[in-house]
Amino acid sequence: MRKHAYTLVQTLPKMLDTSLEFNDDSNKPSKNEKCYICTKKPQNSRKTLKCRQCNQWFCKDHARKNADERFLICLNCFKANIHQELTHQATLQINDLKNCIQESNSRKNQLRKDINHKKTQIEKLEIQINNKNSINNLEITQRKIEQESLMTNALTKEIETLERVLESSKSSEKENKMRLESIEGEIEEVEKYTNFMREEKNKLLTRYDELNKDMRDTVPYGRLKQAVCPKCCVKIKRRFRDQLLYGLRTEGTDSMIESVLAAKASFKAMSETDKMSTSGDACHCIIF
Ligand SMILES: [Zn+2]
Ligand SMILES: [Zn+2]
Ligand SMILES: [Zn+2]
Repeated sequence: MRKHAYTLVQTLPKMLDTSLEFNDDSNKPSKNEKCYICTKKPQNSRKTLKCRQCNQWFCKDHARKNADERFLICLNCFKANIHQELTHQATLQINDLKNCIQESNSRKNQLRKDINHKKTQIEKLEIQINNKNSINNLEITQRKIEQESLMTNALTKEIETLERVLESSKSSEKENKMRLESIEGEIEEVEKYTNFMREEKNKLLTRYDELNKDMRDTVPYGRLKQAVCPKCCVKIKRRFRDQLLYGLRTEGTDSMIESVLAAKASFKAMSETDKMSTSGDACHCIIF
């Protein structure tokens, strides 16, 4: 707008050089009125015109087209119009700029608010992240601790069982040693006893041979036992104990049967009171 106004001011005087043809009938030109700007009367055939805005007379030199170029006005009114228009444009521009500034300010404020809001959000999120991280770390460490404690418990149990096994094996080893020692002692005793028994056996064998020689002329006790009842057998064993043990002949007789019969005969010859006192029984077996 400013540029347009400038060009208008520069070009108008040339266009208006020739005539004042822009007058209409309501403003008839005058030959007598002076120009109120230059105070000159129109010369030759020229006339002055009446300005529609200020109702004052003006000459050709001080004539200008109005805004829509339909009629002429005085230079002062033209300048005033341009000034007014420029002022109006400037105020409009200033208002626009003010609006722009206000908008930008409000935008800036809004952006600041947004930035602050986002900052607080970021801080909250960071706090949350930190909390989550710390919680995660805490959980991970807790799990590790639990696993390690479980492992430790299992290991302790294993160690305890191993210690028990070791103790039991030690004690069993001791027991085994003691058993082994006692068994070895027993074996020694058994060996000693075996040797003793061998010697005894040898002695008995020699004794047996000797006795066999002596027993050739005596009645075997086994045959005598078959011929008497158990009570008489006991009697014979008591009466001839030494002879039976050593297989010797009874004095004055050739065999065991003869000595037994002799004893029976002497028993029968006894009086009844003597019989009762000797042994209170009398059987009907073939010998007694
Ligand atoms: Zn003039
Ligand atoms: Zn005027
Ligand atoms: Zn009998």
